[in-house]
Amino acid sequence: MNKEIPVNIDCDGQPDLLSVEDALQRIQNFVEPVEEMQTLPLMDALHHVLAEEVISPINVPPYINSAMDGYAVKGSELPERDEAEFKLIGTSFAGNPFDGVVNAGECIRIMTGAKMPDGADTVIMQEHVVNKDDTIRIVAGHCAGQNVRHVGEDVTAGKAVLQPGKYIGAAELGLLASLGIPQVTVKRKIKIAFFSTGDELRPVGEKLQEGQIYDSNRYTLFGMLTKLGAEVIDLGVIRDDPNEVEAAFIKASSMADAVFTSGGVSVGDADYVKQTLDKIGQVDFWRIRMKPGKPLACGKINNAIFFGLPGNPVSVMATFYIFALPALKRLMGQTDFMQPTFKIPCYSGLKKRPGRTDFQRGIMYRDDNGEMVVDGAGMQASHILSGMSKANCFIILPAESGSVASGDLVEVLPFDGMK
Ligand code: AMP
Ligand code: MG
Repeated sequence: MNKEIPVNIDCDGQPDLLSVEDALQRIQNFVEPVEEMQTLPLMDALHHVLAEEVISPINVPPYINSAMDGYAVKGSELPERDEAEFKLIGTSFAGNPFDGVVNAGECIRIMTGAKMPDGADTVIMQEHVVNKDDTIRIVAGHCAGQNVRHVGEDVTAGKAVLQPGKYIGAAELGLLASLGIPQVTVKRKIKIAFFSTGDELRPVGEKLQEGQIYDSNRYTLFGMLTKLGAEVIDLGVIRDDPNEVEAAFIKASSMADAVFTSGGVSVGDADYVKQTLDKIGQVDFWRIRMKPGKPLACGKINNAIFFGLPGNPVSVMATFYIFALPALKRLMGQTDFMQPTFKIPCYSGLKKRPGRTDFQRGIMYRDDNGEMVVDGAGMQASHILSGMSKANCFIILPAESGSVASGDLVEVLPFDGMK
């Protein structure tokens, strides 16, 4: 008999899981941006969030200049048919302008970024002219006013250029420098303390005994937090011991804006972590309708926000990317935490049962026709960290969807923010 599977019941037979969208909404609701600001020299402001609006003190470009290496002429002198001849009367270099006037029948040699001389309003690319001695010939077909950059066409003096909440990346640093702004007021960096839990974990550099593994989650967390621009506080590996765990939580929450742990939130060992957190914080233990990464603890310990990520290495990265990253961006004061996704064909078939939202690991590439396509990145189990390294995106398969056939369109989320 064919039995239809209700969409909101997980196929593992677990009803009442929280949807990815609901979890995201709940997380955003309890995160408040940090308030403290600091004024920093421009380069030190990289990877901070702007705290104040920036008004441009100048026009950019500050003077009318050429967009090409070529010849500057009066546009009204361009030939309508055949060709016209112009007398070369000088040169304008970037930083060393020509200070005469260009009259009818005259031109100057001009370099990219050099100031346009009085009288000229048009630049003809050097490849488009025939140059002989002191004259150049220009054929018909050019437009008056072309290849010129006008005063203030990038940024106008007195106008707002950047808004509070803008994350300062390379483009913003350059833009601020182009305005001559030497320092900016930003939100202070967020501080994140993190530790791993589990008796089986050993730090790198030590020899593994039977039944032990190396602690990799602290390293992926360190990488992702550093990439975001957070100040990180590494509290190491904490044993599965209630007193040690409680002490670690108290210490971490007293020194950081957010506390991250991995492991200890799945059903098997949630008890003492849960007891500890019930005692010292306000934390919800969620089971999210997603794969990988079903268990997730989320809330507050004192004034710090808390993310108890699952233990499995791929689940750590997936839950961090999907839930923690937008929350941390909000904590930093960012106003744009959209994670762009797009749809492309998937060449490999992907197995999936309806029930949970899958974040499968994918490899995007260009096929022989130059089109972007994606393949699954091999084994999809949540302990296969090598797959995360091979992959360059998540393939997001909606909760209700089943398996993907080769050629189906799938939604991909590039790893940009994480790797
Ligand atoms: P747990 O949620 O603590 O039961 O952990 C789930 C799985 O993740 C187990 O296989 C753990 O050994 C593994 N795991 C937990 N923490 C880490 C870690 N820091 N690094 C690597 N694997 C871990
Ligand atoms: Mg554990």
